[in-house]
Amino acid sequence: MGLLEGKFAVITGAASPRGLGKATAKLFAEHGATVAILDLDQAQAEAAAADLGPQHVGMACNVIDKAQAQQVMDALIAKWGQIDILVNNAGITQPLKFMEIEPENYDAVTDVSLRGTLYCTQAVVPHMRGRKSGSIVNMSSVSAQRGGGIFGGPHYSAAKAGVLGLTKASARELAPDNVRVNAICPGFIATDITQGKLTPEMKEMVLAGIPMGRAGEASDVAGCALFLASDLSAYCTGTEVDVNGGSLIH
Ligand code: NAD
Repeated sequence: MGLLEGKFAVITGAASPRGLGKATAKLFAEHGATVAILDLDQAQAEAAAADLGPQHVGMACNVIDKAQAQQVMDALIAKWGQIDILVNNAGITQPLKFMEIEPENYDAVTDVSLRGTLYCTQAVVPHMRGRKSGSIVNMSSVSAQRGGGIFGGPHYSAAKAGVLGLTKASARELAPDNVRVNAICPGFIATDITQGKLTPEMKEMVLAGIPMGRAGEASDVAGCALFLASDLSAYCTGTEVDVNGGSLIH
């Protein structure tokens, strides 16, 4: 019996084939959940959902569009009758130095992580509160905790640190209604977010800083998301869980 039998889960930014969202969707489906994959492109979202099996759903949703986020969540609630789990995974990064950050860079990077997490969460909270049940998992980053990770610039660190603040404050506010909110802080995980953008020297330097001596796999993050989404973590809210091979022990 899977850990998410009978549960309905929405995962944003989950169409990227090697991404954390897709790996999470796959593991959730293996544990019995019905999953909606949201991403910018409808066809890619549908293809990713079809990969998981016919009962899963792919929908276009730009998470920074509040009205669209609401429409999509409402359509899923109408279709399924319930949403039990939301994973706010959509995110983008840019390798800029502090003085290189232009207004459009700031907007692009902070909007997807922060507005996206806020708007998608707002879109499901009344429903989850009404059912007195829900688990929300937000994707932060080691970059939020150590002031820069491997790749992202200061605006990315700020966006992901903002996600931690949003996680903790929403966890506090929603806890009386049994809606839990937790964050994952992945370290260096092999996905397309850095694909082709890291030089071999950079990669060597990054690996030297990881006590476990390897990059993370998307499945490493998915396992943590499964724990936080399931009832195994029933008494955890407002937590940040590190998935970083020991690269930041604090
Ligand atoms: P990825 O680039 O493979 O996937 C990100 C997905 O988000 C893409 O499918 C993209 O289309 C989608 N997306 C972008 N903007 C969107 C928007 N406005 N609305 C909806 N979808 C949107 O990246 P990934 O490595 O799988 O990263 C997933 C999350 O994990 C991100 O939030 C990222 O910041 C975070 N993270 C990744 C790492 C890592 O090392 N890979 C480390 C720490 C944190």
